[in-house]
Amino acid sequence: MEEKREVVLSTVHEHGNPAIVDVAGWGLMLTDDLDDGGAIGLSLFVPTPQVADEGWLAVGGRLPEAAASCEVLDFQGEWREMTTGSGFWVGMVSGRPGVGPIARFRDASAELVPAELPADFSRTPAPEVEEDCFACGARAWELVAGSAEVEPLGYREEFEAAVCTRCGYAAEVGMLVSLETPEDFDPEQAREAAASHRASSLERLRPRLAAARFDIYAEAGGPYELAGHGGSSGDGLADPFAEGLDGLSPEEIRERLGEYNDGMTLTSVVVGAYDSPVRVTSELEEEFLGTEEELWDTLEGLVGEEVKWPESRAAIAVNHDHVRRVAHTAMRDAVFAQLSISLDGRPVAWEAARLGSHWVAVRTVGTTAITVSATGVEPEDIEIVRLTDAPRQLVPPTPPPFTTV
Ligand SMILES: [Zn+2]
Repeated sequence: MEEKREVVLSTVHEHGNPAIVDVAGWGLMLTDDLDDGGAIGLSLFVPTPQVADEGWLAVGGRLPEAAASCEVLDFQGEWREMTTGSGFWVGMVSGRPGVGPIARFRDASAELVPAELPADFSRTPAPEVEEDCFACGARAWELVAGSAEVEPLGYREEFEAAVCTRCGYAAEVGMLVSLETPEDFDPEQAREAAASHRASSLERLRPRLAAARFDIYAEAGGPYELAGHGGSSGDGLADPFAEGLDGLSPEEIRERLGEYNDGMTLTSVVVGAYDSPVRVTSELEEEFLGTEEELWDTLEGLVGEEVKWPESRAAIAVNHDHVRRVAHTAMRDAVFAQLSISLDGRPVAWEAARLGSHWVAVRTVGTTAITVSATGVEPEDIEIVRLTDAPRQLVPPTPPPFTTV
């Protein structure tokens, strides 16, 4: 961080020294440590700004004018009192990146005060939302949208969320949701686009599978279908998703997906039946998230219930946010311990995480990181084998729309 900075509000925690700082040329920022921390800008309205640091999150932001105190819901489900002053709040709580902690505010008589939204944001009542607020239990939603200049980078960042009018909790509208505006989205067309993408990408993929810089593994006995693949722009080519898919027609999305295959390096492959309860992902090790992250993210994905696709953007945002939060909360009970799975004919130890009938196991072999995830099937009942020398027949499956690895 730059030397020319003014500390607006800071606090001391055993896991860091989080602070709100005003940095010359950059504006207000939240950092997880004054001496040696990462930082994020506070230009845009963000409900609970956060900086992650190994299981701990620095949180902080602007205090609404009517608020006297701020509390944050941490990963253990406890509301923690934050340090407040100079019109800001700051603190540190246990948590994981992704689904962040929740901040809420109270006035001097302990009544909830909603987070203040920028005056130029649009606000539309959303009575159609069927879920209660995750933070306060009310059902009083608005669809809120706006943008802000990001200093000093000179671009505008967009914000769109379903916001609880009682406490200010915000369920942000994600990228996929942007596809679902009734005027430019036809589910049938999108499904065709996705299927056509799969068929054409498989043709393109065949030579790349052969040329992959990593080995590909699958469950012994097949079926050996290509159930997913991913790539990276590591060879210097532009990421076709960098600008998002907002406002594009299904035709344009199809083109964009095509570019993805033309311009990128293959980094992960899933071979197996798409609807199998066991999923085996082979990934180029240098692109791998890391064992703990992978176990965490994959298991959380398995635990989550099915999301809904109602017509309203606010209803989609709240439902998807709710599903994510429920899965994230359930992860408190996940057990992380090694287990044994047969690999190329002999039992070996895998790093693993389990929750109920769901489990995930990770092991690195050469340049490949293998992730096996399953629901309702026990590790001793499966065998993993290397396919790369003989990829047999790769048959394109019928995928649901817009599923990518
Ligand atoms: Zn609320």
